[in-house]
Amino acid sequence: MKTLADFNFEGKKAIIRVDFNVPLDDQFNVTDANRIEAAKPTIDKILKDGGSVILMSHLGRPKGVEAKYSLKHIVAKTAEVLGVPVKFASDCIGEIAENAVADLQSGEVLLLENLRFYAEEEKGDVAFAEKLAKLGDIYVNDAFGTAHRAHASTTIIAQFFPEHKCFGMLLAKEIESLNKVLNNSEKPVTAVLGGSKVSSKITVIENVLDKIDHMIIGGGMTFTFIKALGGKIGNSICEDDKMALALEILEKAKAKNVQIHLPVDMVAADAFSNEANTQIVDVYNIPEGWQGLDVGPKSLEALKDVIKNSKTILWNGPLGVFELDKFADGTITLGNFIAEATKNGAFSLVGGGDSVAAVKQFGLEPKMSYVSTGGGAMLEMLEGKTLPGIAAIEN
Ligand code: AMP
Repeated sequence: MKTLADFNFEGKKAIIRVDFNVPLDDQFNVTDANRIEAAKPTIDKILKDGGSVILMSHLGRPKGVEAKYSLKHIVAKTAEVLGVPVKFASDCIGEIAENAVADLQSGEVLLLENLRFYAEEEKGDVAFAEKLAKLGDIYVNDAFGTAHRAHASTTIIAQFFPEHKCFGMLLAKEIESLNKVLNNSEKPVTAVLGGSKVSSKITVIENVLDKIDHMIIGGGMTFTFIKALGGKIGNSICEDDKMALALEILEKAKAKNVQIHLPVDMVAADAFSNEANTQIVDVYNIPEGWQGLDVGPKSLEALKDVIKNSKTILWNGPLGVFELDKFADGTITLGNFIAEATKNGAFSLVGGGDSVAAVKQFGLEPKMSYVSTGGGAMLEMLEGKTLPGIAAIEN
């Protein structure tokens, strides 16, 4: 794996694909600078070496040039986070960009205008990628959030830097963390898979079954399993057409010696609302008119020991409808168990969907070993897919 450490950037211009697709308010102020902060270590290393930095990113989903999606709105925040002045080029290719790059001195940072002002970016256009490539001496990809897309700036551009391309620190960390969980893991390995649907997690489940010892199932997909096993699930969500698949997963798990942990009780509600009436019920006997929206106390008690004894933990998907306070307890409690196990030496990775939002919302992020920055990209890695952005650097 080629990383920043393999290069000395002195006197070099590094063109870095970052993910600065940050949220803006009505006044175009950055409301969450996490993604800019995440790229700082990579930028710092290059500047420290005596190189200069050309940053390229997308912002939103513009159709052609749209002023509200201009990256000029984030220049001030980027400068504040990096602690150095940041220059801006009002185009990402052509004369404007080339002149700005020609003026760039060692130790300086230049941000290019939104890549997606050109449709060629998402099309993975080779000529457009070549124009971007012309701007830098070394290509660095540090945008994990778009690593699963074969766009011009994330993938195609790499071919113009056969020897001079590498992963940024953020992207390297994502790859390393996933490897630590699925390939070089310390046993026992536990995967917690929650979220709403079996159908959206099936490929992940199939890919991880070979690599884990325990699988904890929670969230809405529980009920497809429970109904398939003959339980009464009331009004809980269920994918009837995936029931056969659920039974197949249970069979496969058994054959591979993976212990499956399904919830035993549920917080059932008479409506999908914080104002609903609730009761704790047996997961196999949810009354008509009621739906399971969070795992119950007995289920959590059972999970506690599994998590406590795990040395490696992967968490993907909430255990209940955590967006509603009334049904957040299961997800929070699980998060606390994982935090405790992590404190005691386990490696924990949270990634690939809404569990990332959950750990952030409940202040658990610093207590996990690693929280992934890319929802879709991490999900595809968990599915065992090779991401085009990663392959382009490795090949
Ligand atoms: P995913 O994006 O697949 O990780 O699914 C996350 C969503 O699953 C969240 O929005 C949760 O509210 C939802 N969810 C979790 N548990 C349940 C449940 N028991 N019933 C309905 N939705 C659920």
